[in-house]
Amino acid sequence: MTAAVRADGQVEPEALPRAIPGPPALVLELPGRIGTARWFDPAWCVVADPRPERDRVTESVFAVADGQVGTRGLLEEAHADATAVRVAGVYTAAEPVTEALLALPSWVGIPLADDVPTGLRVLDLRDGVVHRWVPDGGHGLCTARFACLDRPGTGVLVAQLDRTLLGDVVPVAHLEVPGTRPAADGVVAGLARGDGVAVFRATSGGGVVRDVATAVDGDGERIVVSRLAVHRGSAHRMPPVGSAVRALGAARDLGPARLLDEQRAAWARRWAERDVEVAGDIEATRALRLGIFHLTQAVRRAGAAGVPARGLTGPAYAGHVFWDMEVFVLPFLAAVDPAAAASALEYRRTRLGAARDRAAADGRSGARFPWESGRDGTDVTPRSGVTLHGDVVPIRTGDLEEHVTADVAWGAWQVAAWSGDWGLLDGPAGALVVETARYWASRVRWDARGRAHIDGVTGPDEYHEVVDDNAFTNLMARWNLERAAELVERAELPDPGRVAEAEGWRRCAAALVDGYDPVRRVHEQFSGFDLLEPLVTAELGRPPLAADLVLGSERTAASQIIKQADVLMAHLLVPGSLPSGSLEADLDRYLPHTAHGSSLSPAVHATLMARVGRLDEALELFRVACAVDVDDLTGTTAGGVHLATMGGLWQAVVLGFLGVSISGPDDPALVLAPRLPEAWTSVRVRLRWHGARLRLEAQGERVHVLTDRAVTVSVHGSTRTVEPPGGWVG
Ligand code: BGC
Repeated sequence: MTAAVRADGQVEPEALPRAIPGPPALVLELPGRIGTARWFDPAWCVVADPRPERDRVTESVFAVADGQVGTRGLLEEAHADATAVRVAGVYTAAEPVTEALLALPSWVGIPLADDVPTGLRVLDLRDGVVHRWVPDGGHGLCTARFACLDRPGTGVLVAQLDRTLLGDVVPVAHLEVPGTRPAADGVVAGLARGDGVAVFRATSGGGVVRDVATAVDGDGERIVVSRLAVHRGSAHRMPPVGSAVRALGAARDLGPARLLDEQRAAWARRWAERDVEVAGDIEATRALRLGIFHLTQAVRRAGAAGVPARGLTGPAYAGHVFWDMEVFVLPFLAAVDPAAAASALEYRRTRLGAARDRAAADGRSGARFPWESGRDGTDVTPRSGVTLHGDVVPIRTGDLEEHVTADVAWGAWQVAAWSGDWGLLDGPAGALVVETARYWASRVRWDARGRAHIDGVTGPDEYHEVVDDNAFTNLMARWNLERAAELVERAELPDPGRVAEAEGWRRCAAALVDGYDPVRRVHEQFSGFDLLEPLVTAELGRPPLAADLVLGSERTAASQIIKQADVLMAHLLVPGSLPSGSLEADLDRYLPHTAHGSSLSPAVHATLMARVGRLDEALELFRVACAVDVDDLTGTTAGGVHLATMGGLWQAVVLGFLGVSISGPDDPALVLAPRLPEAWTSVRVRLRWHGARLRLEAQGERVHVLTDRAVTVSVHGSTRTVEPPGGWVG
């Protein structure tokens, strides 16, 4: 995926940096500009791996979405694929999981003859357009498609092709597509086969209405196909057909060229507030932009929007929402797109009722959030799965991976901390912090010595299933209890009953054991972890690897091999709650045992390595994370891109290499501690903090701040108030 393309169509993996020659004609720039040669910028464009065995991976990486509807990057001739499209929030009953996002057939199909080669495919991140062309010297094939970012639910496909490349066309007599006209016998009918209104029902009572129109233009040998598709989805009841028909009409009135102008403007606005650029490292810049591109297209900016682990890009994890949303995606959204962050928060807030019911069913107080969440916030984690060897095994994360409850509270706190808006937590979103604290207070077991324990959980490291006092879970529960107490205590007229309850939370937080050994300065991952077989990952192979498949799950569970950052996640999320000096010690203790069996793990380590100034190791892990999807490092990208890894990459730059630290809405200054790898001459990021729109450019250990309002910034301890338009700090 990282290759450049030569003019003769050969792919040159080593050729970067250099511009990528584009198709001879860009169909979307019709009329007028046809024939204009174009070059793709390698810092903004991803080139598909041409090997057919990589097609499923490309389908995920080249998926286009608008926060509402996602379409996998299928080849046009793969029109029979029935699972190409997903609509946010529209779940249906499914096997073997309880529910999955409803998957719909592709709308980008064009019946091509069997021998049409794949050609070249490029995803241009600047405007979200996927280009394909078959450079055969003649007319060949040239297509472009996109999902209209500011017109959610509307998709555009334009193809220019030699008529002889078409296959499987049906007689023109069946054609009744308003607005289209025959270009040659049978051609329009073949191309317009999927046109018209279609209705897809989900078992939930909700569903999707789709309207598609194809227009064909051309002069005999060469034709131009323009297709518009509108999807309207609703989680609980069928959306009215008229809404899709009207939206399609509006899109047709504009036509593909003006929709493209709109699209370019929409993405330009998004990039203006979220771009990241690493001077001196095109590969890193492109990987970061690919991540930002997918994070942006995965989230709606209104209503309640859960962000599935794979966004709307594929079937993996059935479109379920995990802690990935709060811990990996939300910091990015909170820092660049407050409206999208608010939608993610609203998703959890509107599911508090289900979380309260779950806590009550477990005999607890407060709210317990589900490990996997879908339509209504009940737990939709599958109860069993099938191994590669065909064995059915129980899946226990739904029962055991309780830390998600504290992670939800942490996510709400992040949104407030980035925006500086306490009002958010004084309002309805505050319940996400308070109700989760209530849960932990009722969840702990007190021992005779007055210490509090959380027994029988799974931490982030899923190789060790039922453990007591998982340090991460306990540290997060402690943080959750303290923050909830803070919210109660800072109220203007504190209610005496709640103050007493908050005192109890503080006592509980202080009593929770965290496995910390002050002599070695390390946290024990859970009670008894140190007694397990001290295997290191290097004995098994080169990470990332699925250690449980190499060793077998029983042997893995009896060893110190861990799937992903566990104790270290606490250093990432709540650094202020851990003793100083423990980060370095915990990194040395756990990294050698980490298999990175989850793709989200390398970026976490990159962030933490950068924070302690181990820049070479940080960069190495960062590069692993960059390759997760484009090189399909874990063999799972065919199921959709890994949004957690993508959010982790952004964090590695912002929270790691730039050393941004955010603790609460009262933060008096934006704190940075940049330390860049030698190869990076500067790093530029754009974000919002406490209402200010900032462009930060780190060079060495100094930072140039561009701002639209006065902000106090602290860089390596040197603090100053920067007035607009900006200045240097540090
Ligand atoms: C990881 C989890 C993650 C899930 C979904 C699993 O492999 O262990 O931490 O939430 O994937 O991305």
